[in-house]
Amino acid sequence: MAEKVACDSVYDAIVVGAGHNGLVTAGYLARAGWKVLVLERRAVVGGACVTEPVFPGYKVSTAAYLVSLMQERVVRDLELRRFGYEVLPKEPAYFAPYADGRYLFMYSDQQRTCEAIAEFSRSDAERYPAYEAFIERVAQFVEPLLLRAPPNLPPRDPQDFTELARLAWKLMRKRPTEWAELAQMFTGSAREVLDDWFESDQLKLALATDGVIGTNGGPASPGTAYVLLHHVMGGVGGVRGLWGFVRGGMGALTAALCRSAEAHGAEVVTEAEVASIDVRNGRAVGVTLRDGRNFQARAVVSNADPKRTFLQLLDRRELPAEFVVQVKRYRCAGASFKINLALGELPSYSALPGVTLGPQHRGTTHICASLDALERAWDDAKYGAVSREPLLEITIPTAYDASLAPPGKHILSIFAQYAPYALGNGQWDDATKAAFVERCIALLEQYAPNIRGAIEHVHALSPLDLEKDYALTGGNIFHGDLRLDQLFAFRPVAGWARYATPIRGLYLCGSGTHPGGGVTGAPGHNAARAILRHKLLARSGSNS
Ligand SMILES: Cc1cc2nc3c(=O)[nH]c(=O)nc-3n(C[C@H](O)[C@H](O)[C@H](O)COP(=O)(O)OP(=O)(O)OC[C@H]3O[C@@H](n4cnc5c(N)ncnc54)[C@H](O)[C@@H]3O)c2cc1C
Repeated sequence: MAEKVACDSVYDAIVVGAGHNGLVTAGYLARAGWKVLVLERRAVVGGACVTEPVFPGYKVSTAAYLVSLMQERVVRDLELRRFGYEVLPKEPAYFAPYADGRYLFMYSDQQRTCEAIAEFSRSDAERYPAYEAFIERVAQFVEPLLLRAPPNLPPRDPQDFTELARLAWKLMRKRPTEWAELAQMFTGSAREVLDDWFESDQLKLALATDGVIGTNGGPASPGTAYVLLHHVMGGVGGVRGLWGFVRGGMGALTAALCRSAEAHGAEVVTEAEVASIDVRNGRAVGVTLRDGRNFQARAVVSNADPKRTFLQLLDRRELPAEFVVQVKRYRCAGASFKINLALGELPSYSALPGVTLGPQHRGTTHICASLDALERAWDDAKYGAVSREPLLEITIPTAYDASLAPPGKHILSIFAQYAPYALGNGQWDDATKAAFVERCIALLEQYAPNIRGAIEHVHALSPLDLEKDYALTGGNIFHGDLRLDQLFAFRPVAGWARYATPIRGLYLCGSGTHPGGGVTGAPGHNAARAILRHKLLARSGSNS
């Protein structure tokens, strides 16, 4: 990383924030020969995709913990494998213990998964392959849209018309049943979709959790079917929906992105918080840091979320009033809580006991009694309270990568819901955090009685911590809810879906743009393409 940068030189582009999307944009622009400066407020690059030494001797993926959605095209274009990126596929993919002593495994191999499902329902086991084929069909419609800028609505430039025509053409060729499937996946609830397919609560719960992770909604909330789809819009090793660990923790991915950008001349500076994006005559001309330093550029690209970018880093008077209203309405409050534990021994589940590394430690584990219990967990959050019985999504990265912890020790990550950003009764502080951590541990203890005695260190992030430490406004892990009215042509706001903003020369490249949150690299890729295209048009004298 660059130690010192010259304040007097003019950059082609300044990227505000070194989250993975900011680094992707920087990588593409640098490869196009641009002089690029990336400014990151934290001491470490990566944003929410980071490895941090929060306990002595451990490397912890403090926020994001698994990959699947990272676009292969970006991995190849930016040569990330050459720069150290390696994914360790999860196998088994899933393990859930139940209070009655039974458990469910799911695997990358469909046949094995069906055999495991058959223990709960023969008919579900028979229907499962057709369900996967249905998900594949819908995903194949959506996937090609991920690496393209959506049309602005209403259309105003030839690209908008082209994109609308492409979409219309794709839709026109769909059969009526496919239209119905798409409508359900975009507007329905995860529960409705799964009720149509399956009878066993255990299977529906296993699949429904993808619909609520990072979301303000329960499995029966409209819109959660899309979130479910969003989470299977990738894969590892060619297996749709399979997730994996990054060797070295999630920060190894952003370190690879950083090295890739730097290898092409980008300068990446940490502990450099941008206080304002400077605008002259309606055009972004550079940034001013909190320490007073100024940097000039022909384009400024913000990796910060839309609310932070427009309502904090810009003088609102530079923006159309109507646009400011839209940004203020952008829904961006989180309900997720992250707990990272250092363990002296692995959890021993009552349903499948043992502290020796086994398949029950290698899959993603959900601790949740039933689909109804998950809905009730959301009910609490709806009224501003933390869930009495939260959903726990558990992963153990050291089951794949022993180098992350001292010999014999383990890391256990708990992604817990729901923990609303705005508490109806009080606010997030050390006491409320500790109480929620205790609730989660007590719940896990019901399934893995040795867990409390195994804990050696605890690191916890409330939604307020995610906002303060990681600059995620509202603690929203996706830079804004993934709902139809905030997706595609409406992300971040209608009329500005193509990474440009009402300020000339200012672009967005983070998860608050299409196609949304998760470690995908897609917004960063699309933003870079939009910026390079604008530059070309500007050179050719076209008015973009
Ligand atoms: C707890 C948690 C768990 C998650 N789990 C997963 C998971 O397992 N898998 C997955 O795919 N996704 C997961 N996600 C979501 C995913 O991590 C995010 O959607 C994604 O990393 C966002 O990337 P980004 O580059 O768009 O933005 P960010 O990662 O938010 O990066 C933005 C960067 O901009 C910087 N910044 C902001 N303002 C300024 C400023 N004024 N000056 C300088 N720098 C600034 C920030 O510090 C940050 O580094 C998780 C997120 C969280 C929080």
